[in-house]
Amino acid sequence: MDYEAKGVTMGKSIEAAVLRQSGKPYVIECVTLDAPQEHEALVRIEACGICHMDIDGPSLCSLPAVFGHEGVGIVEAIGGKANVNVGDRVILGYGSCNRCPSCMQGHPFYCDKSWEVTFGGRRLDGSPTIWDSSDSPLHAAFFQQSSFATHAIVPDHCLVAMPADVPAEVGASITCGVMTGAGAILNVLDVKAGDTVLIVGAGAVGLGAIMTARKAGAGAILVADVRDGRLEMARELGATATFNPRMGAMHEWVMAQTSRGVGKLLETSGNAAAFESAIASLRTGGHMAYAILPSPMEEYALKPMPLFEKAARFEALSFGNSVPHDLYPKMLEWWQAGEFPVDRLISTFSFSDINQAMEQTRTGDVIKAVLLMEATDAQ
Ligand SMILES: [Zn+2]
Ligand SMILES: [Zn+2]
Repeated sequence: MDYEAKGVTMGKSIEAAVLRQSGKPYVIECVTLDAPQEHEALVRIEACGICHMDIDGPSLCSLPAVFGHEGVGIVEAIGGKANVNVGDRVILGYGSCNRCPSCMQGHPFYCDKSWEVTFGGRRLDGSPTIWDSSDSPLHAAFFQQSSFATHAIVPDHCLVAMPADVPAEVGASITCGVMTGAGAILNVLDVKAGDTVLIVGAGAVGLGAIMTARKAGAGAILVADVRDGRLEMARELGATATFNPRMGAMHEWVMAQTSRGVGKLLETSGNAAAFESAIASLRTGGHMAYAILPSPMEEYALKPMPLFEKAARFEALSFGNSVPHDLYPKMLEWWQAGEFPVDRLISTFSFSDINQAMEQTRTGDVIKAVLLMEATDAQ
């Protein structure tokens, strides 16, 4: 089934990677994608990055499901009225409702419906977007995209224009994780020339933060990670000093480097021991940004006294408090100018190799896996 660019209600046959059972492989299935409604676009996905939120998806969503939330593609159809045009090349942003007070104030990262539009499995009006071959609705609209597929339906306010000369995998790589790191540095910690910043964890979020801190002119960029390979990458991207916490207490290393602790700290490791050591690494009046989705069952033994003693600020972030329409173009400009080498993080896989890409993301063998959909279009 296919349909015209506007005003059609029939679905479209596409291919999507469906996870039916946690721990089992994804299977690329032929499924039906709903037609776009008003202010939605049907996007033919060129590439989609893999993020740890996709791996954690089964603990937050019901199955069977279609994950994927770092898509890039071409608008193939719009549902009646939309703020994009057929043929536009776009990067997909995270979901937001576009009508709550936070969204209206330009703060979609504080959307009242954030959890629902991210993990709810349907459009905000409750309608499903993808059905399997036996016409059962799947848990989809993940981040309002579900882009582990050849096509996705996306609200038009979540689409950001992408230049034609940027490779699809580069566009996909600057979305969720890297944007979170960049946003944490610019929007939350407000890192300025000469500042000292500590970044805990050198995954996509941490490495995005390092590149951004360097771009902002930070004087000292301290980085901790338990993987020596990641520390090497961190140094290549701008870290001025690195530490492996397997060698000792991180906060002792930080105190030796700074004498008084750090005023700006980004925690991206999602690790209880690192969390405690991070608090001990702050100077009085320090600011700690927490930018990683914790595992839902995670429990930290949080002692409030060290935070109180230091009059420290602890702030949990959503997407680095970033607005994709502002930050995506900025990061792409930096990349084009050779000042944001995000391509160093990328490993590409064909869509059919999704299970291999997920596994290598899980083990940390690759930093930013990006699936390329082009060759497996269902048409
Ligand atoms: Zn909202
Ligand atoms: Zn993500």
